[in-house]
Amino acid sequence: MATSAVIDHTQRDPWQVALEQFDIAADRLHLDPNMRGILRECQRELTVHFPVRMQDGVVKVFTGYRVQHNISRGPGKGGIRYHPSVTLNEVKALAMWMTWKCAVVGIPYGGAKGGVVCDPKHMTAQQLETLTRRYTTEISLLIGPDRDIPAPDVGTNAQTMAWVMDTYSMHHGSTVPAVVTGKPVSIGGSEGRNEATARGAVYTIIEASKAIGLDLEGARVVVQGYGNAGMYSAKLIAELGAKVIAVSDTSGGITNPNGLDPQKIEAFKRETGRVQGLPGAERISNTDLLELDCEILIPAAIENQIGSQNATEIKAKIVAEAANGPTSPEADRILYDRGVMVIPDILCNAGGVTVSYFEWVQDLQNLFWREATINARLKEVMVKSFNDVLDLSHKHKVDMRTAAYMLAVSRVADATLTRGIYP
Ligand code: GLU
Repeated sequence: MATSAVIDHTQRDPWQVALEQFDIAADRLHLDPNMRGILRECQRELTVHFPVRMQDGVVKVFTGYRVQHNISRGPGKGGIRYHPSVTLNEVKALAMWMTWKCAVVGIPYGGAKGGVVCDPKHMTAQQLETLTRRYTTEISLLIGPDRDIPAPDVGTNAQTMAWVMDTYSMHHGSTVPAVVTGKPVSIGGSEGRNEATARGAVYTIIEASKAIGLDLEGARVVVQGYGNAGMYSAKLIAELGAKVIAVSDTSGGITNPNGLDPQKIEAFKRETGRVQGLPGAERISNTDLLELDCEILIPAAIENQIGSQNATEIKAKIVAEAANGPTSPEADRILYDRGVMVIPDILCNAGGVTVSYFEWVQDLQNLFWREATINARLKEVMVKSFNDVLDLSHKHKVDMRTAAYMLAVSRVADATLTRGIYP
């Protein structure tokens, strides 16, 4: 996650980006205009305004959203984001990306997303709990274990999901673990869910490296963002022998050409709340970090990081999108022409929702799997999905994003068509 100080949110409206990405694939697929009309809209968009008692007598009204883009392939699925710059259009884009993400890895969900405009970094645990419980109550019109299943996203975590689960269960009158995923293991969460987004991303990086003939041993890696996806990506890729030469978080970036130790960064961040200031590392700006000489760049923050203004300066051979929506369609074209392999978000970060699916299945069956089983099944899904997309990209001579969209959109269109139009 990166701050508004370093992120220009005005660059592109994420919803316009999402539509443009969809249109590129729809054109390639010669998608029927009626189907195009259906898939270019979100099926349900709920906006809620709700009061939260902050401290002695102060009541603040918050705005939140829950959007379901398309639920033809199964219940809605997608995270809840707490961030000061959340907008309805951002949540719509994230919901649409969830539809494609679930389809590209073949898990039986539609796409959904939620968000609350707030700054969790400046709220107490008590305030966050109250906000979460009230927001859950407001969106309970839409959510449920067979309707729409939230999960963590930027600014939320396993504790947030525990509050969602408890609030929903209190209203329901019995414990309903399957209403959210990404919960703590003690209340029905899954082993391996915390690391799943990063683990999945690393599986796709391994496959991408094979495809372009890159040796991961000693490969230089830059990670933008040191939240859940960024931190575990840095750790897991370093375990494979790659060299993490720069990382950043909302407070700024750090670099050392000889390599940084992700464990030490984690410990330092836990103590100080930031990565900057780590002994033995130099400061680096967000702009310079993205343009560093490296083999693998992992954007693991938020949208709008690689655009036409910096795509020509990216040195990496592989851009692995652990974040959602970091690259604009203009940048996609530039990177493709320059021979950079972009592993698109809907494929690269699908490990998170894949293990969410495993968690939901375990909750519904009341039968829990070992971490080794989870990781092996995750690997199978990611490796197969990556290679399906790679084959399509070769067959149609398109970039990896367009290929992933072609696969996803055709699956969703097929489900939507097969079900037919009601009534
Ligand atoms: N927020 C994550 C994503 O963007 C996870 C969603 C989920 O597990 O439902 O993919």
